[in-house]
Amino acid sequence: MSELQTETDYEKLKESELFILDMDGTLYLGDDVFEGAVDFIHTLKRTGKQYIYLTNNSSRAGADYIDRLRRLGFPCERENVFTSGMATGLYLQQNFSGKKCCVVGTKAFRAELERYGAQIDDENADVVVVGFDTELVYRELERAVHFLRKGAPFIAANPDWVCPMPHDEVLPDCGSICALLTASTGVKPFYIGKPNRNIVDVIARERGIDNRRICCVGDRLYTDIAVAQNAGTVSVLVLSGETDEKMVRETDRKPSYVLPDVRAISAILEGREA
Ligand SMILES: [Mg+2]
Repeated sequence: MSELQTETDYEKLKESELFILDMDGTLYLGDDVFEGAVDFIHTLKRTGKQYIYLTNNSSRAGADYIDRLRRLGFPCERENVFTSGMATGLYLQQNFSGKKCCVVGTKAFRAELERYGAQIDDENADVVVVGFDTELVYRELERAVHFLRKGAPFIAANPDWVCPMPHDEVLPDCGSICALLTASTGVKPFYIGKPNRNIVDVIARERGIDNRRICCVGDRLYTDIAVAQNAGTVSVLVLSGETDEKMVRETDRKPSYVLPDVRAISAILEGREA
């Protein structure tokens, strides 16, 4: 196992105060909850760890994820869910307070921004803010192009080109909408979501926890482990999703720890590791 990971003991894992958790491929796959995944959350609670379920999806509200996670049996309060839309709201609050925003995004995305105090004014804006807009209308693009050409900063929630759907279908995601805006204006977006460190930095700042005391857990090297490395946090790659040992052996992006699944994290935190 040591050739796959960078740490030789579990101290950094045990000392982490906040666990940022990927969901699909890490805690469940579709509607199938992995064995021990719900217990893992209870272990985090029992051992005094904070935890956040994190998603790059900026089309839906945090509340949608609370409902879904609870339905699957996971303990979840409002403070346990974070979307890239919420991170964008928090980023705007921390860096563009009082500025007016022109938004390309769903109603849910707009509401999340407003919850963090953003002033949305699509007619007279200082900043252009883009999310995964599944309700996109041409007029929004027109306005965004207008303000970007006038020099407004271009902030975008998540860089994903596509959102995977059942039956091997995909939807054009935030990254593709931004690519269109970049093609029209020459302006490139500043992304908040994974693999960019901003999504971790805004959480760390809000919680008052040093990045080195945060552990990101996920099944993808290029998002979950990349965001951890970009933000300087501890990382756990779980092999319950899309990455196998061969992929870990071949990557330069070695996680702090590689474990079969989140059950193995429970065992370590409870001092039952083999
Ligand atoms: Mg995943």
